[in-house]
Amino acid sequence: MERTYEAYESIPFARFCEEADLPPELRLSFRTFARAFFSDEADLSTADVLRAFHFYYLSHDHGLLYDYPAGDYETTLLAPIRAHLEANGVEIRLSSPVSEIERGEGKRFRIEREEYDWVVMAADIPGMQSILEQSAWLREVDAELVGNMLALRTSNGYAVWRIWVDRDVRAGLPTFINVDRKRLLDSVTLYHRVTDEASAWVEIHGGAVLELHNYSLPRDLDDDEEIRRVFLEELHHYFPELQGLAISDEVLQVRRDFPAFAPGQHALRPTPEVSVRGLLMAGDWVRLPYPMTHMEAAYVSGVLCANVVFRELGLREERISTVAPRGLLSPKRANAARPALQMR
Ligand SMILES: Cc1cc2nc3c(=O)[nH]c(=O)nc-3n(C[C@H](O)[C@H](O)[C@H](O)COP(=O)(O)OP(=O)(O)OC[C@H]3O[C@@H](n4cnc5c(N)ncnc54)[C@H](O)[C@@H]3O)c2cc1C
Repeated sequence: MERTYEAYESIPFARFCEEADLPPELRLSFRTFARAFFSDEADLSTADVLRAFHFYYLSHDHGLLYDYPAGDYETTLLAPIRAHLEANGVEIRLSSPVSEIERGEGKRFRIEREEYDWVVMAADIPGMQSILEQSAWLREVDAELVGNMLALRTSNGYAVWRIWVDRDVRAGLPTFINVDRKRLLDSVTLYHRVTDEASAWVEIHGGAVLELHNYSLPRDLDDDEEIRRVFLEELHHYFPELQGLAISDEVLQVRRDFPAFAPGQHALRPTPEVSVRGLLMAGDWVRLPYPMTHMEAAYVSGVLCANVVFRELGLREERISTVAPRGLLSPKRANAARPALQMR
């Protein structure tokens, strides 16, 4: 995988597509991958796209299947995870942002008057950077590490707009629809077909619950009202049957917390274990030895952090499942029958 980064990391994906002279239809489907990185093709490293291709297309039987819980995330996902953790003695403190990590006295670190031997930095990039900026002693211990982490950046931002409307799209469409962005709209999810709660709303009121996504905000578009207006204009363009719709409720989220996968960022990423003993890194912005991205990367980086702790305590480490790290066309794979999923 590191060889892929050596060869392709500095090449923006837009340039790669131009030089490969891809036909427009193929380029459109490749663009879907750029969107999955919440980036424009010009601000996305070709190596990261190859990593995603390897994961989704070439090595993973379920890589391109969408699956989701039928209920809302609080009921179906977060509450059971919380209950499981609490049943195992975990104390969860919500709405308690960490501002600083101090040197500990009895243990390695202190955070707000409590001491710890291990700290997993699992915030998003803006959160992680604000903690680092407040924790000056870390720079004294490893200036290069801290300098690199402070140089990581987020992509330009994204917008998610959920709307409750009085009419539905035409029949026969899939639940998740990618469109070729004109200026803003990248995809539409027919949310009333996803969650029980939204489908119950439609049962009572008729219409639809739609979720409109933009994965990379144009730099000249940062006003919420304008974002709503352009979303609606493009929704009408692709779904003319929605002309004149009435919106009875809406939630707009505009955020700038998704990592940039731009040329030059990979070299700055920390691995889960860094030079500061006990300080561990987890998240989709961490460098992994496996070809994983997004949620898989965030999850596996967390398991790798846990394994560092287990190792130090002499406990059994968790196994990690990964797709085969080598591609189907890799010369060393020729004639070698390998399972698509390997356990490490
Ligand atoms: C619209 C959308 C669709 C997506 N679809 C997919 C998909 O289909 N498949 C996929 O694999 N991925 C998808 N992703 C990406 C996926 O959600 C992320 O890659 C994943 O959530 C990253 O997990 P994380 O734990 O690294 O960070 P996050 O989930 O961002 O968690 C970081 C947490 O740190 C907290 N935090 C920040 N600062 C502090 C602080 N100072 N103190 C304490 N806590 C702090 C934040 O509040 C946040 O809860 C999608 C993302 C979005 C926005």
